Parts: sequence; structure tokens; C-alpha cells
Amino acid sequence: MKGKDLTERFLSGEEIYAGKFITVQRDLVRLPDGSETAREYVRHPGAVAIVALFDDGRVLLERQHRYPHRRDFIELPAGKLEPEEPHFETAKRELLEETGYVAREWTRLALIHPTIAYSDEGIELWLARGLELREAKLDAGEFLEVLALPFDEAVAMVRDGRITDGKTVAGLLWVKAFLQR
Ligand SMILES: [Mg+2]
Repeated sequence: MKGKDLTERFLSGEEIYAGKFITVQRDLVRLPDGSETAREYVRHPGAVAIVALFDDGRVLLERQHRYPHRRDFIELPAGKLEPEEPHFETAKRELLEETGYVAREWTRLALIHPTIAYSDEGIELWLARGLELREAKLDAGEFLEVLALPFDEAVAMVRDGRITDGKTVAGLLWVKAFLQR
């Protein structure tokens, strides 16, 4: 993308909060017109989300309580990268841990940026096929319910607003738009 330079340049910054997996940063930046402003943003390690399809056309979803919204959401299996962990390893690990499934066939679909205004978070979307049930082993403090729905029903849930989670909307519609099934 060419055009005029829109870059905002770092002048100084501080970490204003360091949590278990996110940090909050506040930087002073120089804007393209020479003026200065503050940018507050969340640093995130990155994550993966998995569209896991059964041979019969169902897709694996999860119901989880998401505390910031004080309610349950239907979403794709997903998880954060461990330090130095490649995305593919995270995808295999999270699918097994959260749902108990392993997959014979893996395809990287896309990288999405769900929160560009205030976080550097990137989520890789992966497709998993050839599913085989093993045994889930949830992390301590992780509670979720796994469900398998017909893919078209999951897409209908995006349309009617029962699915609103960003990575889940993106993953389901990516597969619907670009994949021959
Ligand atoms: Mg998760």
C-alpha cells in the first residue's frame, strides 16, 4: 500500500501493567504532522483458532464463559502461544487439550488481527480435518463444553447473532467463502 507516510514514531514509553500473559503499554509518539500524542495498547503473545471439521460436515465449537462480558460465548477452539511455540504446535496442542481431538490433516488458513486499535494480537486460523478422539486435558481453571454442529448451522448462528466472537466469525466465514467442501 503506497501513499503518504502515516507512520507514528515511538518517542518514549512505559509498561503500565504487566499481567500473566498481557502487558499494557503507554507510549508517546510523533504523528505524521509532527505533533505528539499518547498511544495505549495491549501487548499479546499471539494465538491460534482452529476450524475442526468432521467428515460428516460438522464443526467443533465450544461454549465458554468470557468474564469481561459476564456471559457465555460459542467459539472455535483456540489458545495462546506459549513462549517460543510455533503456531502449528499451539494449534495441535490446544485442539487436543480443549476438545480431546487430534487431526490427520492440518492447513494454515490465514492470519487475522482482531483488535488493531489497541492491541498487537494476531490470531492464526488453522483448518483441521481427519479428526480422531483421544482425551481432553483442560488447563487448571479452564472450563468449557465442547459441541459439534453442522457447519451450515454454525454459519447461520453467525448470521443471526448467536455467534459474535471475532475469531469464530472470521474462521467460519473464511472456510465458507474460500474452501471447497
Ligand atoms: Mg482456549
